[in-house]
Amino acid sequence: MPTEPLRLTNARLITGRPGAAPTADAVLITDAEGRVGYAGEAATAPASPGAREVDLGGRTLLPGFIDAHVHVKLSLPQGPFHELTTDPTYVAYETAERLRATLDAGVTTARDLAGATRGVRDALAHGLIAGPRLKIAVNALSHTGGHGDFHHFDGGHIHLHQGGAYLADTPDEARRATRDALRSGADVIKICTTGGMGSPHDTPDDEGLRVDEVRAVVDEVQRHGGRPVAAHAQGLAGIHAAILGGVTSVEHGYGIDDRALDLAAERGVFLVPTLSTVFVGIDKAAMQPYHYEKKVRWSGITRTNIAHAIERGTRIAMGTDAGVVPHGRNLLELGFLVELGMSPADAIVAGTRSAAELLGVADDLGTLEAGKLADFVVSAVDPLTDIVGLGDPANVLVVAQSGVIRKDLLGLAATTAPTTAEARPAS
Ligand SMILES: [Zn+2]
Repeated sequence: MPTEPLRLTNARLITGRPGAAPTADAVLITDAEGRVGYAGEAATAPASPGAREVDLGGRTLLPGFIDAHVHVKLSLPQGPFHELTTDPTYVAYETAERLRATLDAGVTTARDLAGATRGVRDALAHGLIAGPRLKIAVNALSHTGGHGDFHHFDGGHIHLHQGGAYLADTPDEARRATRDALRSGADVIKICTTGGMGSPHDTPDDEGLRVDEVRAVVDEVQRHGGRPVAAHAQGLAGIHAAILGGVTSVEHGYGIDDRALDLAAERGVFLVPTLSTVFVGIDKAAMQPYHYEKKVRWSGITRTNIAHAIERGTRIAMGTDAGVVPHGRNLLELGFLVELGMSPADAIVAGTRSAAELLGVADDLGTLEAGKLADFVVSAVDPLTDIVGLGDPANVLVVAQSGVIRKDLLGLAATTAPTTAEARPAS
């Protein structure tokens, strides 16, 4: 089904390319395949016969954002037992609502780092529900008793609808668990090399998968065509194990030091600092005491270490850990990055181009350039002077995927709203 070609005029264009200044008077042309035909100065824009012209009134046009760390099946703000006490079909509808909220916040692509299965990803890809394009880890690899192990204290299994974790305690078991993940359709392998804040049995300083186990995972993935390997790693020892073992990204990374930053720079490892999960929702009354105490302590550590990583120019991709914090406020993360010293322009790159590189989708997504998929956002505020404002979904006026307008507070698509069947994304 062809997409209606558009000619967006009178736009202030931020392409997502590192170091590129915004173009004050820009035009974006999209084609019938949902790709960008032209993005740049109005003065040099080619003709676009048949394209519907839309005047953006000088508003800022940005690439669709990419959240590299979400859990769409999870909503911890609803309480830790919500999923256990709720019918799975009802949870599926809740998931659909969260996906819609994530899209409306300006996120057109996301990476689920445990919880979502291929059914969620494929329902999105086939246009059955609206939401970001999704890459999935399915479940996380964890040691017995580690961050991803959902068992009662007496050893009884907590039955989560999605299984919980792939448990592995040796390099051979790590290989088998990786094969489990691949069989389940994982686009990315999630491993836990430390404990965490939300888990009752361990802390960020507890170590998870050891370096030989991480290497086994990375090697096994390479033997099956390669995929990114993402490490939940908060304390320093586990961060080192993850990087030395060959992961693609360190998720959280709160305890990161100079040696780890050196190693990450040498090896091209991304840091996804998920500041939202540290700074949003610290509420003594609403949290388990162990969770509250860990969060207060680690928010100070994070502020110091991530600010230092930003100062050193570490390769950072945006991720929020939405699910641990509320869904649909993803772009608040950009404001937290700026609070710790990143420029607004660099924060936008972290949420677009860099995240696309981490997900392995940079050929199609992450910047607004000719040939790429036309995923874009129109903002009511200038994000270079009001990055916090972009974190309010009310300021995200328009969201499009592959040239199809999905959110439309400007009334652009009112006369030509596609039917559900026509609304399927191009990829
Ligand atoms: Zn997470």
